[in-house]
Amino acid sequence: MAEYDYDLFVVGAGSGGVRAARVASELGARVAIAEMDRLGGTCVNVGCIPKKLFVYGSHFSYDLEDARGYGWSTESSFDWATLRANKDREIERLNGIYQALLEGAGVDLLKGRARLVDAHAVEMDGTRRTAERILIATGGTAVAPDIPGSEHALTSNAAFTLDELPRRMLVVGAGYIALELGSVLCALGVNVTLVHRGDEILRGFDRDLACHLHDELEAKGMHILLETRVEELRKTDTAFEARLSNGEVIATDLPMFAIGREPNVEGLGLEDVGVELGRHRGIVVDDDFTSSVPSIHAVGDVTDHIQLTPVAIAEGMHFAHHFYGEDDHRIDYMTIPTAVFCQPELATVGLTEAEAWHRCQDVRVYKSVFTPLKLALSDRNEHTIVKLVVDASNDRVVGCHMAGHGAAEIIQGLAIAMKAGATKAHFDATIGIHPTSAEEFVSLY
Ligand code: FAD
Ligand code: NDP
Repeated sequence: MAEYDYDLFVVGAGSGGVRAARVASELGARVAIAEMDRLGGTCVNVGCIPKKLFVYGSHFSYDLEDARGYGWSTESSFDWATLRANKDREIERLNGIYQALLEGAGVDLLKGRARLVDAHAVEMDGTRRTAERILIATGGTAVAPDIPGSEHALTSNAAFTLDELPRRMLVVGAGYIALELGSVLCALGVNVTLVHRGDEILRGFDRDLACHLHDELEAKGMHILLETRVEELRKTDTAFEARLSNGEVIATDLPMFAIGREPNVEGLGLEDVGVELGRHRGIVVDDDFTSSVPSIHAVGDVTDHIQLTPVAIAEGMHFAHHFYGEDDHRIDYMTIPTAVFCQPELATVGLTEAEAWHRCQDVRVYKSVFTPLKLALSDRNEHTIVKLVVDASNDRVVGCHMAGHGAAEIIQGLAIAMKAGATKAHFDATIGIHPTSAEEFVSLY
């Protein structure tokens, strides 16, 4: 008889946990997964998917404007309740697909909050279950700043269930969520103010792109306050007031924090069983996702790694193959493409120009700013920027960056070229597809 109830017990049925559970089970392990909320985790329920549906939904305001230049006259109006309800229906469908995938793979699905009781045991609702290995895939939670009145502000989760659109929104932060949700609401006619402590939005992204995007967002009507902090939030009879570090007081109907997410480690009993946490309280793991306790593992946002769905999935996949199948290739964290789905969207892979100057002896930079052809017949004045960063010592392309329509779809393809070691000469020798924005990447000189 087996020593443990399961070979693998996974805590958290989000992107990383579900992938690890399914693959391990398909490779022959006896697997259980615990989920205290809806299947699919952050990405499916309050992240990538509802966000992207809102991005599509809100972008029609610009598309309809563009359509006029092409001869269309459209009577249009927007109904928030319809978008929200249709989004909810799609998410329920995805929850069902996740359930079917887990059941189809033979994983035992347990509903409820799980907590470690020792290095091989988990407790849920008073029932103890044992496993040879335990995988923690509990994701992260939005951080709230320590300022008076912070309890009045929402986090991104609430944006997906708003009863109605506010007239005015104030977002603190200038990273992924602030720009994405700020762009959605801005496109839907909400008066959006972004308050950011730094001297430019999107710290860590290429500076040319961040500045370009800043101008484009302001051109769409977003107010961006740099080097400013919200020091206090107050509730008034009808709305909220934010007192800023520059002395201004701003009235708003919807204050929101988008200042980062921290690993979900509270209440899991990790410290009691000796699991080491890192500087940002993420679980410290080695290259194969083993923590300081050999039978306890972690993948995804609960570690201190980059918080992206494909990364959590790749980690879950690597973990399952490593322990239950053939060893999988190590994950290369250096060339992870990523996109900010603000409007226009920004996508990037590899080094920024500043990072390249830091790492390479000599750097060549190529860039182009242009009006996409689609807007030639429109009154909208939106520009696209593309930029290549090249290591001059070997001609290797070390960074591809774009802000403009279709950026994410284009950069995904270029990420493969970069992974394959493409040089600028390879880009130059590639024939473009005309007329596209993507062809700019093979026409830069
Ligand atoms: P999660 O998906 O968060 O799953 C963790 C699961 O664990 C949850 O279901 C939770 O309920 C469960 N859980 C927690 N504690 C317990 C417990 N004790 N017992 C049982 N269950 C528990 N990434 C992208 O790549 N692209 C995007 O466009 C994108 N957009 C985003 C938009 C927003 C608004 C947000 C917030 C995030 C976005 N992300 C995006 C990030 C992405 O959602 C996360 O990186 C990804 O979901 C992390 O997966 P995970 O498996 O680590 O955790
Ligand atoms: P980000 O890390 O992207 O941005 C956080 C922002 O808040 C930054 O502008 C940061 O400024 C600012 N900030 C941090 N702490 C404070 C503070 N105490 N007071 C004021 N401002 C502060 O976090 P998000 O919350 O936007 O998103 C969390 C993560 O989720 C992202 O990092 C990303 O990994 C993932 N995500 C991915 C998406 C995608 O792939 N499209 C979409 C949404 C989320 P500073 O630069 O000065 O530190």
